[in-house]
Amino acid sequence: MTHSEKKTTVVVLGAGYAGLVAAKRLARQSRAAVRLVNAEPDFVERIRLHQAAAGQSLAELPLADLLGDSGVDLVVGTVTEIDLAARLVRVGADRVLRYDILVYALGSVSEADAVPGLAEHAVTLSDRADAARLAERTARCRTITVCGGGPTGVEVATELAESHPGLSVRMITKGRVGGWLSARASRYLDRQLDRFGIEVIGDAEVVRVERGAVVLADGTRVGSDVTVWCGGFTVPVLAREAGLAVNERGRVVVDETLRSVSHPEVYAVGDAVAVAGPWGAELSYGCRSGGFTGPYAADTIAARLAGRAPKPFRFRYVHQCISLGRRRGLVQFVRGADESPLWMFLRGRIATWYKEIVSSSAIWLFRHPGPYLSRRRS
Ligand SMILES: Cc1cc2nc3c(=O)[nH]c(=O)nc-3n(C[C@H](O)[C@H](O)[C@H](O)COP(=O)(O)OP(=O)(O)OC[C@H]3O[C@@H](n4cnc5c(N)ncnc54)[C@H](O)[C@@H]3O)c2cc1C
Repeated sequence: MTHSEKKTTVVVLGAGYAGLVAAKRLARQSRAAVRLVNAEPDFVERIRLHQAAAGQSLAELPLADLLGDSGVDLVVGTVTEIDLAARLVRVGADRVLRYDILVYALGSVSEADAVPGLAEHAVTLSDRADAARLAERTARCRTITVCGGGPTGVEVATELAESHPGLSVRMITKGRVGGWLSARASRYLDRQLDRFGIEVIGDAEVVRVERGAVVLADGTRVGSDVTVWCGGFTVPVLAREAGLAVNERGRVVVDETLRSVSHPEVYAVGDAVAVAGPWGAELSYGCRSGGFTGPYAADTIAARLAGRAPKPFRFRYVHQCISLGRRRGLVQFVRGADESPLWMFLRGRIATWYKEIVSSSAIWLFRHPGPYLSRRRS
């Protein structure tokens, strides 16, 4: 343990899939003072928000419990500003935290302004408040329209259809629902949507959301009591506003050790980072990348504090897990080289079981974030 390491303060912003494990793992293997800032006192299982929207209760996961005796100092509050020159973070109206190293892990949110009327007349699904709002509206409506045929749209539509059999559920999407899947998996998905009675309007672009309707590019007006926007994710503007180098989507641009290319004392992980996959393209949004970038950043910071050279970040996706209600699912295995679908996929209950193990493993990782190194040796 070096003298400088004892004095280092690392502030981690965001206690999601990436930030929580990064903070805990770093505290376990270095002498750095680690502070974790999060808007809420609980860990939110975002990958289960569609279940909450369908009226299911999710496990209570207080961050204080998950952090246990790790030594991480939890600060509950909303980060409002990052001052990169002074190395300060403002939390709420009056709290200021100093850092030597910053880990930016503020995740993503659903797009809220992709089309006119979205913010006023549609529900998004970014946090627990959104899920509660959707659950409340769904309970007293007859038709629901899910805009977006990606994995989140599929999970939301099928979960709501299963939990509310009397509800008329419709999906509207550009291209086709599940267009990224292998041909066999895609046919399986079509059959399941049909079983749930979900109406699919494909090759259609929603250009406006109105009270009680969505409007398509060809002028068609489709009636809808409740409209859910699952058209895509975007990232918080804090990084851009602070002056960190970001790409056109606002994700932080990093080197091969997840260190900001503009401010080397800043690391970025999870959905907030524009890390490239082995094929060169950006990793898609997903808790999977958070579960790998978070621990990697912790190890890299610990290595650098101890005077060791870190290894470059390497990551390959192997699968994509999609729930289709509580009794069925679909696991599409993908090529690590480019994330394209392999012929192999799982379906039905075995896929549900597989996805449940993957989803629960995130919580397991928080409780067992990785090696005890320096603390034990020191
Ligand atoms: C319905 C739904 C289903 C999904 N299903 C899957 C799935 O099956 N598989 C998959 O891989 N991905 C899935 N995702 C995506 C997945 O949830 C995200 O990719 C993942 O949560 C990103 O992890 P993260 O750690 O980067 O950010 P997050 O988990 O979003 O964590 C960010 C944290 O930062 C906090 N925060 C944000 N701004 C501030 C601020 N200004 N101040 C303080 N704190 C702040 C937030 O409160 C949050 O705790 C799903 C998403 C949704 C909405």
